[in-house]
Amino acid sequence: MDTFVIGVDLGGSHAACGCVDLDGNISCMCETEIDRENSADKVINENLIPLIEECKNKAKDKNIVGIGIGIPGRTDSKNGICVFAPNLNWHDVDVKTPIEKACKLPVFILNDARAMATGEKYFGNGKGIDNFVCIAIGTGIGGGIVAGGKLILGADEAAGEIGHITVEPNGPVCGCGNRGCVEALASRLGIVKRAEEAIDSGVETVLKKENLTSKDIFDAAKQGDKLSLKIWEDTGIYLGRFIANLATTVNPQRILFSGRVSGASELFLPSLKKELKERARMVPVEKIEFMKAKFEDDAGIVGNAGRAFECLGYLK
Ligand SMILES: [Zn+2]
Repeated sequence: MDTFVIGVDLGGSHAACGCVDLDGNISCMCETEIDRENSADKVINENLIPLIEECKNKAKDKNIVGIGIGIPGRTDSKNGICVFAPNLNWHDVDVKTPIEKACKLPVFILNDARAMATGEKYFGNGKGIDNFVCIAIGTGIGGGIVAGGKLILGADEAAGEIGHITVEPNGPVCGCGNRGCVEALASRLGIVKRAEEAIDSGVETVLKKENLTSKDIFDAAKQGDKLSLKIWEDTGIYLGRFIANLATTVNPQRILFSGRVSGASELFLPSLKKELKERARMVPVEKIEFMKAKFEDDAGIVGNAGRAFECLGYLK
């Protein structure tokens, strides 16, 4: 009989789960809304447990051996505790104990961006690659580092908070409180903010400030709008400095991009590669392969399933 685990993707407003086999194929998908105003207890008991039970019911004929849950925040994965998840307003929440008790399966938790890297490692574009970094560029910038074939968690499971690497010491204040984090400059919000500031300063452009999105800036750049082209060029410079630091630390063979901003890579990769070469002199950065991650919307489900399989000894 084939072996399956349930992978759970928990976000600030929505959770999804599915049965995943040892090749990373998903079946029996289920989804639910999450109200972040509710207590952690309520979310676990009234949203997560029923969601997992629904998936188990759909997969009655399957041999399910565990559950992997992604947490949008810091984790203590050994003890199954969410240390801090700002989008859910969770502090020191025991996720493992109540779900194991109710669902009668071993539960493993992991930070969501690290789970994404785990999914790529076992089932995606990191398969067979011992050294790579996954970079998710969305409203923020998150990631996961695989070095020597292992996901790096660090002493406090904070390794991989790469969006908070400083790339501009006097840059804008980031959500974390520091100035000039790459997240504050090159995430979707950071890109839009830089464009808005340029519009305010009177630079000539077709962009309009109202409801401006990174997609608008992409479209305008494709039409030759000078400001938009400059915004993407600068995005590449910030990402280049950021990746120079990563490359110098872990010497990755591959960089995997995910998230909506990565769709604009044709506009930022040239300046990114130039800046990277300029800043990382001791690493043969011209060898780095830039690719898209294989999983996008399913990355959480597949990644947390991979983590559960790994913890249970099915995958190495
Ligand atoms: Zn920051």
